[in-house]
Amino acid sequence: MSAPILKIENLQAKVADEDLQILRGVDLELNAGEIHAIMGPNGSGKSTLAKVLAGHPGYEVTGGTATFEGEDILEAEPDERSQAGIFLAFQYPVDIPGVSIANFLRTALQAHAGDEELDLFEFQDLLMEKMDLLDMDPSFAERPVNDGFSGGEKKRNEILQMACLQPKLALMDETDSGLDIDALQIVANGVNKLREDNPEMTVLLITHYQRLLNYIEPDFVHVIVQGRIVESGGPELALRLEDEGYATWQSEVTEEVG
Ligand code: ADP
Ligand code: MG
Repeated sequence: MSAPILKIENLQAKVADEDLQILRGVDLELNAGEIHAIMGPNGSGKSTLAKVLAGHPGYEVTGGTATFEGEDILEAEPDERSQAGIFLAFQYPVDIPGVSIANFLRTALQAHAGDEELDLFEFQDLLMEKMDLLDMDPSFAERPVNDGFSGGEKKRNEILQMACLQPKLALMDETDSGLDIDALQIVANGVNKLREDNPEMTVLLITHYQRLLNYIEPDFVHVIVQGRIVESGGPELALRLEDEGYATWQSEVTEEVG
């Protein structure tokens, strides 16, 4: 077995300027090419985990470690993490009126290229190739980022970003929340196509609901409650959660935390 691409040990984190502990010792290992789902009730720390891994300044790590390809990532700046190959799809994407998707992506890719100047023809080819892979109309790239987008269009944009940036690890936070079934399928088809294209891409899907997992089959499912992974298993665990909910784990953990 090769070393895991992402290894999280006893990760603890709190809100930056408040005395509010959210992650209370998360352990997780992802091997390259695996799809993991993290499921948990509202407020269990799912988004915090994704944000801490991406380097969000609103949270402070108070203990534990996280390594990506063997390197400590917790000290790295968010853009360094992105350059290393970690991509975070937000639960609530922001609007950038006046900036087209194509320009936004070009800027993002230029940032990844560093001092080397991005070849614009290569960029155009890459953009067209990815839009074609994802069955997107080329005119979509000319629209301003998220401005007036439907939920489904915002998701298309995120998937396109992911396709162009070609991350090694995609963290997808509640990419299914508030989505109608069409939008859900856009996300799922997108992720599935990107994985067919690049089977080494590792995906961490964070979700409250089981339904996204009907379209993207995870290799492993983890349950997070009150800032800790309380159980891990295969895809069947998601089905059990759908039937039973989180109540069993919640009562156990509440007694412990007090
Ligand atoms: P989830 O994504 O699982 O619903 P979050 O990670 O967003 O949960 O939040 C976990 C808990 O921490 C929630 O109770 C939330 O209200 C609280 N929390 C998260 N971020 C902040 C913050 N910046 N300020 C205050 N409370 C926060
Ligand atoms: Mg959340």
